[in-house]
Amino acid sequence: MKILAIGRNYLEHAKELNNPVPEEPVIFLMPETALIKKNQPFFYPDFSNDVHYEVELVLKINRLGKNISEKFAHRYYDEIGIGIDFTARDLQNELKKKGLPWEKSKGFDGAAPIGKFIAKESLSDVHNISFSLEKNGESVQNGNSKDMIFSFDAIIAHVSKFFTLKIGDLIFTGTPAGVGPVKIGDELVAKIEGHELLKLHVK
Ligand code: ZN
Repeated sequence: MKILAIGRNYLEHAKELNNPVPEEPVIFLMPETALIKKNQPFFYPDFSNDVHYEVELVLKINRLGKNISEKFAHRYYDEIGIGIDFTARDLQNELKKKGLPWEKSKGFDGAAPIGKFIAKESLSDVHNISFSLEKNGESVQNGNSKDMIFSFDAIIAHVSKFFTLKIGDLIFTGTPAGVGPVKIGDELVAKIEGHELLKLHVK
């Protein structure tokens, strides 16, 4: 399986990192080894001093598809989850400055914890899903899928032009504003519509 991720998909987040608002989805990939499942801990990597959390809604692809039209894109996922796109911001800034790919800063081991997935049907409207992240009991990020620059369907249509989607592939759909650093000892809790689906300790 593969993990696709979308950068700069929320206006306020693009602004907070002084990034331009994209005209088409910004795509990057992460390897399967980036995943953390079942609330296993995240081990702070020794190559960074500035790892940031980015909470994101995650789509789980349920059928094979290429060149999917936006109109039919909703048929390609029936579960939505929540994940954290950990980013070694110091490393990413260096790579960006040099015009190099971001993979080392985004796709390292453990950079993509995912929580439990829930059925799309259990949500009243996929275009209006609230989600949040708490750090040590304090709310740090609050997002809603209605504020995405590119909708789930637009993302699926766009990425599937370049990458055939396969069953089990995951798509991280971008983070809202409020990203910030984690340190060893922190506890992160991510929720969709108030339901806790991911809890993780930084070790
Ligand atoms: Zn992200």
